Amino acid sequence: MQTTSRTFTLIKPNAVAAGATGKILDRLIADGFRIRALKMDFLSRNRAARFYTVHRGKPFFEDLVRFMTSGAVVAAVLERDGERAVEALRTLVGATDPARAAAGTIRREFGESVTRNAIHASDSPENAREEWSRFFTPDEITEIDYTPEV
Ligand code: GDP
Repeated sequence: MQTTSRTFTLIKPNAVAAGATGKILDRLIADGFRIRALKMDFLSRNRAARFYTVHRGKPFFEDLVRFMTSGAVVAAVLERDGERAVEALRTLVGATDPARAAAGTIRREFGESVTRNAIHASDSPENAREEWSRFFTPDEITEIDYTPEV
């Protein structure tokens, strides 16, 4: 059986508000990701602070939490063939600062600033699992491939 791996992404409020959700999902799919779960959501202050708990106390933390609670986000569990879903998504998303992100990356195209950088991508399989469990129950993650009958 083919090996697959998963990661987690969160389309941030600036990209959702700009109407870029569909374009970003298209970019993910075109790169070889399959969407296993998808949800629009709003983060409370507590949820946003918990999501970014590693950055608590840093100078940009308050701005980050304010931004992440400023509008809707779109969360997704992503899967692809092979073992490198986390790395593949981080490459496609690009550097934290959109101005430094490589040409062709999602942050280069849709990011506005270091804070308003359009999209989150988990940095390890363990963190991906932990992060998607904040948005999805296990039965909200699709495990079966739909094959239309002909
Ligand atoms: P990522 O993995 O590339 O998203 O980067 P990090 O995990 O280091 O940071 C999480 C998020 O915090 C980033 O995506 C940015 O939105 C924000 N952030 C990180 N570092 C900075 C910074 O130095 N300044 C500002 N304003 N925001 C930052």
